[in-house]
Amino acid sequence: MAQAKKALTRQTRSQNTKQTQTYKNYIGGEWVPSRSGDWIENRNPADTRDVIGRFPASSEADVDAAVAAAAAAFDAWRLTPAPRRAEILFRAGEILMRDKDKYTRDMTREMGKVLKEAGGDVQEAIDCTYYAAGEGRRLHGFTTPAEMPDKFAMCVRQPVGLCGLITPWNFPMAIPSWKLMPALVCGNTVVIKPAEDTPLSTHNLIKACEEAGVPPGVVNLVTGYGETVGARISSHPSLRLISFTGSTETGRTVAYACAERNAICSLEMGGKNAIIIMDDADVDNAVEGAVWGAFGTSGQRCTASSRLIVHKKVYKKFSSKLIERAKQLRVGNGADSAVDVGPVINRDAVEKIMRYMDIGENEDGATLACGGKQLTKGDYVHGYFIEPTVFTDVTPDMRIAQEEIFGPVTSVIPTKSLDEAIEIANGVRYGLSAAIYTQDVNRAFHAMNETYTGIFYINSATIGAEVHLPFGGTKGTGNGHREAGTQVLDIFSEWKSIYVDYSGKLQRAQIDNKKAIG
Ligand code: NAD
Repeated sequence: MAQAKKALTRQTRSQNTKQTQTYKNYIGGEWVPSRSGDWIENRNPADTRDVIGRFPASSEADVDAAVAAAAAAFDAWRLTPAPRRAEILFRAGEILMRDKDKYTRDMTREMGKVLKEAGGDVQEAIDCTYYAAGEGRRLHGFTTPAEMPDKFAMCVRQPVGLCGLITPWNFPMAIPSWKLMPALVCGNTVVIKPAEDTPLSTHNLIKACEEAGVPPGVVNLVTGYGETVGARISSHPSLRLISFTGSTETGRTVAYACAERNAICSLEMGGKNAIIIMDDADVDNAVEGAVWGAFGTSGQRCTASSRLIVHKKVYKKFSSKLIERAKQLRVGNGADSAVDVGPVINRDAVEKIMRYMDIGENEDGATLACGGKQLTKGDYVHGYFIEPTVFTDVTPDMRIAQEEIFGPVTSVIPTKSLDEAIEIANGVRYGLSAAIYTQDVNRAFHAMNETYTGIFYINSATIGAEVHLPFGGTKGTGNGHREAGTQVLDIFSEWKSIYVDYSGKLQRAQIDNKKAIG
């Protein structure tokens, strides 16, 4: 995904150096340049003439320095009482709140999503920070009866150690916060690498942590490319845990690297999410949900509603209303409050999405009902804009119905029954989110039970997670972990079971000493 910006960077580095703001890594409490001396230019995807800044294209040595700083800070941080750690996070939340408008504008500028959505992304980071901070006075373990008399049994959480966090560009502040804040409240120290397309939002998050008083070395930021910085983080022998969000392909590479040294590996990856629209659905409401789910963030959400499985009885009505609404959407620079759909992230994304337009129409034989084109004239000339696109007459086996396109493209698939719709919904390699529109509670609960996904919505689109519920998916989407909710604490802490024998004598467990009762 980042290749397009990369190419641009190399072409234009010398032209822009003087006037371009320069950013640094954050290692051991200091803002430092990369040892590599190389940079990545961060450009606005709505207008690539707008250079936001240059960020270190860091080397493996920078990662090693960051890991050393995290190691040096670990003992003091893990021994800081969790409620004290949480106080610092609460302060970080206040700072994020104070600077929300600036962070929102920064995010729209570097990532392209419309201001309202960028504000939502920053708000999610704030919510997540407060929520994690609240855990500082809980981090609950449990007690349980022991098998023997005069014996006590309990279980407590302990920090994992040094954690590497690797994040994507589509939620450039929310996703880093989903990992960082729970990691910190649990007492871990961290090295974080944002996506090369969106380092500024993570830089802003780390600045807030610094100002809030997170001690030096507890959080370390290293920007750069996946194949250097990401790969070194994934394979670093001192990093006990890697938490990754991104594509399924990259996630697999990260998992291999972790398996080599038996590191804990938490993966949040791709999706191909379906909304089922039944014949008793409120069609207008379903159309609004589909438009929001498919074209919000220009379709660049892991939870995007990229498949709409529609009962034959309402298929025509639903499709024509959907097409009408998709055509009304205003595409443009997300900084303009009149715009509904911003640009996609970079040139590679444009090329990939346009390839799928061709596959859908010419290989798969679906009907291109609206959209399908890149916008390249007038205000669009310097950005990466694509028309909101609807394919109809799609069958479940088509590539556009199976593969993650990650753009403003959705496929309408006709179905004859609820059971068939569920089979279609489940018939992809991913398992992140699914939804149903119906007025029938029995159908709703049946679908909820039978869809094999981590998230399910009734009468709502497949997007819109809240930070206090677990987030993640099955099959190709995840490896069994969940972020957000209290479940994220199970990623960032290790359970320790503790037995206290206060009988004053040897009591032997795992020996068959049971007597019949009575
Ligand atoms: P990506 O896999 O290209 O990159 C993700 C991160 O991994 C980036 O920081 C990148 O630099 C890094 N990386 C790349 N190569 C690496 C390597 N060899 N070793 C280690 N790190 C490496 O993904 P992307 O294009 O940034 O994001 C889009 C993808 O993310 C989509 O598939 C989307 O569905 C997924 N996503 C999933 C969730 C979720 O929670 N399930 C959320 C958001 C995005």
